[in-house]
Amino acid sequence: MKKAQIRFVQQQLKKRGFNAGPADGVAGPITMTALDATGLVPEHWDDKRKLTGFVQSIIKEQDIDVGDIDGYWGPQTQFGYDTLLHFLKNGQIVQNWRPEEIQKPATFQNWPLQTPEDELVKYFGNPGENQTRLALPYPHRLSWDTTSRVNSFLCHEKVHDSLQRVLTRVLEHYGLQEIRKLRLDLWGGCLNVRAMRGGSRYSAHAWGIAVDYDPERNRLQWGRDKATFSKPAYDMWWRCWEEEGWVSLGRFRNFDWMHIQACRIC
Ligand SMILES: [Zn+2]
Repeated sequence: MKKAQIRFVQQQLKKRGFNAGPADGVAGPITMTALDATGLVPEHWDDKRKLTGFVQSIIKEQDIDVGDIDGYWGPQTQFGYDTLLHFLKNGQIVQNWRPEEIQKPATFQNWPLQTPEDELVKYFGNPGENQTRLALPYPHRLSWDTTSRVNSFLCHEKVHDSLQRVLTRVLEHYGLQEIRKLRLDLWGGCLNVRAMRGGSRYSAHAWGIAVDYDPERNRLQWGRDKATFSKPAYDMWWRCWEEEGWVSLGRFRNFDWMHIQACRIC
């Protein structure tokens, strides 16, 4: 385990009121005793597993997908750790999310929670099922081949009407010229039966209830400092989505700014 990761463990222990000694990145007896005192990791694990298991618990606490708390640092743990650090570092930015400013019209859909997955299945059916074709209010372009025009795409039948209302409002507000200029027509996909990046669960795309826009300028790991969609020119774009209850991972978690989904993360 890296020094920075052990320092992270020590800081988290201190935050929770345990005496972990100085945050020096060395897992000595004081740190390990504090770890045992948390009761979060089995005592029969070796030190390395305990440290990893503790980090995994912290990640899980923030509702970030980390898989099983098994004490082994694999790609899923690494992804969860990176996501958590990013989230903690930009924590104050979450305050820019102002749900009280969002007007919820009569049509507002209270989309189901993303987890537990069986609740999502209860509402939408199995991944890939109940899809229908949405005729777009304005033509889109494929983000990976901008010369290809997209006039419709497959989405879940339960989000179809809502999607149509969102995009109609976007068109009314911005107009075609501005839409093109702001790259609101650069479509990165909707239905895609695949597991979540770094996870074993399905992504919201598997149900056709998530859409990606302009992935190139709103990359997965980019935060507010880099992602185009965080800029003020896009305030109305987000309002159109949020009034229909759609969730932007960028606005909510300050990562994956390309991604908008019709299920809640909390
Ligand atoms: Zn996405």
